[in-house]
Amino acid sequence: MNKKIAVIPGDGIGIEVVAAALTVLQKIGKTFNHTFAYTKGLAGGAALDALGVPLPDETLAKCRESDAVILGAVGGPKWDMNPQQLRPEQALLALRKELGLYSNIRPAKIYSALVDASSLKREVVEGVDLIVVRELTGGLYFGTPRGIESRDRELVGFNTMIYSESEIQRIARSAFEIAMARGKKVCSVDKANILETSQLWRTVVIETAKEYSDIELTHMYVDNCAMQLIRNPKQFDVIVTENMFGDILSDAAAMLTGSIGMLASASVGGSVAMYEPVHGSAPDIAGQNKANPIATIASVAMMLRFSFSLGREADAIEKAIEDVLSAGYRTGDIYTKGTTLVGTREMADHICQRIVS
Ligand code: NAD
Repeated sequence: MNKKIAVIPGDGIGIEVVAAALTVLQKIGKTFNHTFAYTKGLAGGAALDALGVPLPDETLAKCRESDAVILGAVGGPKWDMNPQQLRPEQALLALRKELGLYSNIRPAKIYSALVDASSLKREVVEGVDLIVVRELTGGLYFGTPRGIESRDRELVGFNTMIYSESEIQRIARSAFEIAMARGKKVCSVDKANILETSQLWRTVVIETAKEYSDIELTHMYVDNCAMQLIRNPKQFDVIVTENMFGDILSDAAAMLTGSIGMLASASVGGSVAMYEPVHGSAPDIAGQNKANPIATIASVAMMLRFSFSLGREADAIEKAIEDVLSAGYRTGDIYTKGTTLVGTREMADHICQRIVS
């Protein structure tokens, strides 16, 4: 198989974890006889420094011409004081919007070797295997009007949470389809007791569920869901929710697994899907070979499975990750006494060594 991949390392540890993930992809290519051609693009702070915009047209064009996109992370303190339109994070929002990536799929599955790395008790997290499906191109992060303006001699900030029926329908279908291939349970999370947007969300999700008679659909308020994720995460199979709720809940779900450095994600919906770790650019550890590359490597496995239908190759990566963790290798974020501390590159090398056809 020949595939063309747009690679956007971004900023901070994005550069390190993407480099590590590409060594794993290269090993997959060699082992299973595939050719993966990369074309690198700038985005985020790196693009602001080089070209003065967070997402250059050239990068977007490369993504559109590719079979999939791998992204590291963007952002950092250097650009924190930039005006809104010149912030690195604008690149992510623009990529999602321009590529039509309205569905963000974030699995949170606990690796058995890492149960003790979670801040929660073993009996709470052992066996957790859930997916958060987050709406990615609507809601509060994109709604207008938005801004900061002067009213009655003081500044006010305002944003708009807005969803159309069709936006809710398509994300609900995305969640139902994923659940059909798993435990067939979907929990739709909203704030329908307060927000009109959520009332419409709930009505449309219930209506759309009629197309999926095998699915068991439940509803939960977002505040209760935050609590339930910590109290009893094993009750969930697939959670579907709007953009901001999903942003927050998926980070909480991330911590169940021990570290945000373990969590992969896929953003789908358009003709080209994007694969990226859930974490950010981690300026505190950037450039020190300390970042955990597993989230990005697992994102590459998702790319192989979902965009290229290479299930065997994806399995080989996931098995290699399991094996390395079982052998006791850990980056700093998941390190516990008695295990072997390794850096970003070494972790990727250990995973490569365990990839077999
Ligand atoms: P972060 O995810 O970058 O870091 C949070 C904490 O987790 C830090 O202590 C960091 O060291 C640690 N961490 C994150 N990834 C890790 C990994 N792979 N291995 C080991 N430790 C890891 O979140 P933040 O500190 O809130 O944000 C830093 C910057 O990243 C900001 O500019 C923010 O806007 C940006 N950001 C980007 C994305 C993205 O590109 N998708 C997502 C979130 C935040």
